[in-house]
Amino acid sequence: MSSALDLMTLDSAGIVELIEKLSWPHYRAEQLLHWIYQRRLTDITAMTDLSKADRARLAECACISSLMPDSIRNTEDGTQKFVFALEDRKSIETVVIPDAERLTVCLSTQVGCTLDCAFCLTGRMGLLRNLKAHEIVGQVLAVQRELSRLRHRRLTNVVLMGMGEPLANIEAVEEAIRRLTDTTWGIGFSPRRITLSTAGLATRLARVANLGVNLAVSLNATTDAQRSRLMPAVNRAYPLDMLMKACRTFPLKPRRRLTFEYVLLEGENDTERDAVRLAMLTKGIRCKINLIPFNEFPGSGFRRPSDHVVLRFQAVLDRHDIAAYIRKSKGREILGACGQLGTLPGSLPLQLERPATRAGFLNPVSS
Ligand code: SAH
Repeated sequence: MSSALDLMTLDSAGIVELIEKLSWPHYRAEQLLHWIYQRRLTDITAMTDLSKADRARLAECACISSLMPDSIRNTEDGTQKFVFALEDRKSIETVVIPDAERLTVCLSTQVGCTLDCAFCLTGRMGLLRNLKAHEIVGQVLAVQRELSRLRHRRLTNVVLMGMGEPLANIEAVEEAIRRLTDTTWGIGFSPRRITLSTAGLATRLARVANLGVNLAVSLNATTDAQRSRLMPAVNRAYPLDMLMKACRTFPLKPRRRLTFEYVLLEGENDTERDAVRLAMLTKGIRCKINLIPFNEFPGSGFRRPSDHVVLRFQAVLDRHDIAAYIRKSKGREILGACGQLGTLPGSLPLQLERPATRAGFLNPVSS
């Protein structure tokens, strides 16, 4: 990329500043933002409400970057997995999941992940780097461009559940959500249609509440011993007790509820006793539980429980009056389902170094 200023790297205040520098009237800022986020334009010379001279002047010093899909893979169930190459040639994955009335995009927030959850493929990559705000929101723009090119439906929902731990990259995630939800110049999603999923960085839940989006917490275990085995890094920093306290005090808006995710792993956390403990742990919290039968990947070392075991687990929760849903795992054949995003060890050796900074994101006192 040239040395031109990439407008995607600016927040709305940055755009205003640029407009001031150019000595343009203030309303130009909103016009620019509108072109970028609502019209999804990448060509400054096509901004037709600017004079030709102004367009030329801006195009001389600025550009609008976009994410280019390296590949798009489709499955029979309609799921699409986009692989995007970033400027530094690292790559991320974004998944589009259709169901009857919704079209959901699942966004990545890091290249690799800060955490080391034993059952997750992304965790094996280590953290390569955090995504920038524009790379997070850029996934939505790029997917929407592709969908409109094919005259497909528009996206209705956004989940931050792809590669990475969103709360370990909180500033960029906050800025991305501002651009996704702003209704004057931004993409205009209602925060109700956005869900952020965390492995449980307890001290940062309040910042999710401030954003007004839905919160999903990946619980996956009901005792510290079990959780430390399955999710060592996060449970070391934020043990169950601390996490559940933060969930209990999460300021839920009327008619909203928390989501707990629970990956079912055969012989690890799938017994009736586990289900009873899960019911006890979540009792009194306005919530639902999404049960995710483990999605296998080569070398994972875990197995997916049988349907019978999954249904038995759900039935126990049901007896305790807890709404539990079994997540249909879409996109499994393209490794596009939960926990299957990432580069398999061996296929891209240069990208698999583990950074020394991983623990830095997990300091429980910093939020
Ligand atoms: N770091 C965030 C978001 C990414 S993981 C989080 O932990 O919530 C998104 C969801 O996929 C989490 O609930 C996680 O527990 C689940 N998951 C990870 N690996 C999985 C696998 N192999 N099979 C099924 N679900 C998995």
